[in-house]
Amino acid sequence: MFEKSTWIRLPRNVVVGHGVIDRVVDVVDDLHLQGRPLFVTSPTPKDVAADPIAADFEAAGIDPAVVTVETASFEAVEDVIEAAEAAEAAYLIGIGGGKAIDIAKMASHHLEMGFLSVPTAASHDGVISNRGSVPDGDTRHSVAAKPPLAVVADTEVLSQAPWELTTAGCADIISNYTAVMDWRLAKRLKDVEYSEYAAALSEMTAEILVDNADLIRPGLEESAWVVSKALMSSGVAMSIADSSRPASGAEHLFSHQLDRLAPDAALHGHQVGVGSIMTAYLHGGEDGIWRDIRDALNSIDAPTTAAELGIDDETVLEALTTCHAIRDRYTILGDGMNERAALEVATKTGVID
Ligand SMILES: [Zn+2]
Repeated sequence: MFEKSTWIRLPRNVVVGHGVIDRVVDVVDDLHLQGRPLFVTSPTPKDVAADPIAADFEAAGIDPAVVTVETASFEAVEDVIEAAEAAEAAYLIGIGGGKAIDIAKMASHHLEMGFLSVPTAASHDGVISNRGSVPDGDTRHSVAAKPPLAVVADTEVLSQAPWELTTAGCADIISNYTAVMDWRLAKRLKDVEYSEYAAALSEMTAEILVDNADLIRPGLEESAWVVSKALMSSGVAMSIADSSRPASGAEHLFSHQLDRLAPDAALHGHQVGVGSIMTAYLHGGEDGIWRDIRDALNSIDAPTTAAELGIDDETVLEALTTCHAIRDRYTILGDGMNERAALEVATKTGVID
């Protein structure tokens, strides 16, 4: 008897391109959203994007409420929930980098309300995915939220973001290679839920990005185009899988642990990139694809060493030996690396010297 079923939630509109920030009102209209929106933004994105979008809404006879968040925290999520209730908002629009969008996503999940994602930096795949997380004291508060109703990614706005945010987004995509290796391993050893479509899409996304690495240059709007399309496609892979597995393996565990041990030292994407070099080595050994991953990161100007991350060697080794335990996700790290093994992989790959 055939009893399988699947439920894939995807954004209904994905609008990418030059100047598309002017189309947010049209997108809302296309989705038949009624009532008052609450904009969730942070200080710089407010000036660059939220204020002009608010003017477009006012011209269309809609008066948006606006809440500005300063930090990615659980309190910020609560502030947004309160602001939404006070404004009697009908839906949320997250306008900003990863922070504002993650907070909008988590608040909309709690409020059981739709939200739109308007990224102003192509810094990680959270701008479209169905996963949200913010630091909560010593741990992370994560939810399996719904993906945005729509994503509006303006390449002109994205290309004006600080360059390292774009290279972080690229590195997050390149790490899909090792995320998929970990997923296949977990499928073989632990029989976890696995989708060949999602795995193939995720790998292909990383490949297209690497093939277009020479378009990824500061000041080139094409960079924003290549990276944001890759982030969308990676987000779609996660939606198909209904899991972050296609884009998050041991390299993400390593990065989450660095977030705890050295808060705010480096960007998420840069940390997972360095993690990915080492976990690729663990999967394939000396002749594996770790050099290709390192070279791809190098070619787009993303860090490939602990020193370039601004994190000391001891912290990298501590993260490597402890990160397997932070969540129940089987990866190449198995039940953990010992110190000698961690030192070996970090040294052989040149992450530490
Ligand atoms: Zn990531």
